[in-house]
Amino acid sequence: MKFDQVNKELFSFLNQSPNAFFAVKNMCDAFRQAGMTRLYEGAPWNLAPGRGYYVTRNDSSVIAFRIPKADYTGFQMMASHCDSPVFKIKTNAEITIDKQYVKLNVEKYGGLLCAPWFDRPLSAAGRVIVRTEDGIETRLVNVDRDLMIIPNLAIHMNRQVNDGYKFNAQVDMLPLFCEKGEESDAFMRLIAAEAGVSAEDILDTDLFLYNRMPAVSLGLNNEFIAGGRLDDLQCAFASLKGFLEAAPKDSVAVHCVFDNEEVGSGTKQGAGGTFLKDTLHRISRAMGRTEEEYLMSIASSFLVSADNAHAVHPNHPDKTDPTNRTYLNKGIVIKYSANQKYTTDAVSGAIMRTICRQANVPYQTFTNRSDLPGGSTLGNILQSQVALNTVDIGLPQLAMHSPYETAGAKDTAYLIEAARVLFSSSVEEAGNGSYKLKFQ
Ligand code: ZN
Repeated sequence: MKFDQVNKELFSFLNQSPNAFFAVKNMCDAFRQAGMTRLYEGAPWNLAPGRGYYVTRNDSSVIAFRIPKADYTGFQMMASHCDSPVFKIKTNAEITIDKQYVKLNVEKYGGLLCAPWFDRPLSAAGRVIVRTEDGIETRLVNVDRDLMIIPNLAIHMNRQVNDGYKFNAQVDMLPLFCEKGEESDAFMRLIAAEAGVSAEDILDTDLFLYNRMPAVSLGLNNEFIAGGRLDDLQCAFASLKGFLEAAPKDSVAVHCVFDNEEVGSGTKQGAGGTFLKDTLHRISRAMGRTEEEYLMSIASSFLVSADNAHAVHPNHPDKTDPTNRTYLNKGIVIKYSANQKYTTDAVSGAIMRTICRQANVPYQTFTNRSDLPGGSTLGNILQSQVALNTVDIGLPQLAMHSPYETAGAKDTAYLIEAARVLFSSSVEEAGNGSYKLKFQ
């Protein structure tokens, strides 16, 4: 497998995707380059067998699909997320201190680790909504330079800090932006200049901080990788690559990447919204299928919910379950949870294990320690919209929800290969707990 080449491409995707808006834009660029057709939710869909299409919602979630030439039995899907825990820049962001400094007012988005945000170059990226003659339009903005920093308090002013510190998001986490100058609104004027508009034409914004440090390889033999937003852009990237390399024959291949997983998915573009259900219904209708035929196709579909997993931590090996312990570079993680925070059951687990074997890639299993609650993901949330056999998987990583996370140098390539096999396969319900798995 071409691990180095895959990581090079992954790093470039991570570095060019400071948040969900950019991740979706970069994926759309890849679909366009692959000759796929862009669809809009507000326009009719005319679909043809043998073609590929993609559609976005809120410019921060995307679903792409490829229809096989022959009649299809179901949908082979992989879902991941493109948002990451981060600080969002509030409206009216500037705060002046002692008529000397300007810092920005920010708030937490998702369950983030505070400590690693200190003492490193940061910048701002997101979208601005601009007034036009007949309405509004969206522009993406990335201030592509080292711009801000959240300075730590010196140890001399807090001698107990190394014994544990409670971070107050309103006090401790506000980034220093500039010296106080003559003019006010320096931040919005900078954003307007980057967007190529005047500050007066900006009606509203969704802007976020991001860590400027680019992704790197490390370890004695470059066996590790580190970078921002590995959770979950590593899975989104692997799904994208496998999707584009696949040869769908008996099922529609569906690559979905959702925003807002880190805040519960309950938005119009999140996994708890109707985006996937609406899209599958529209595909079905455009292909001339009845409602019953749609439901039959869902019964013969399979969904892989791909969201990164916790590897055993070298300094805290006791935090992991005694018999389901996952390690970097040891392959795709299949996640189990008795209370179904992860959707995996014996059927979907068995199908995923078969896919990994067919792809000739290693896999490992994860459960939380029975005395630790763990997190959840988008797999079970999607069930309220489209209920079908689903497995929860991920790639093993360390420091989840830090702005700079660590993972294995081999695992991305393993998931690309498994995704390629998934998107080229079909899972046909045969009744009584039996399924026919067809691989190309
Ligand atoms: Zn995640």
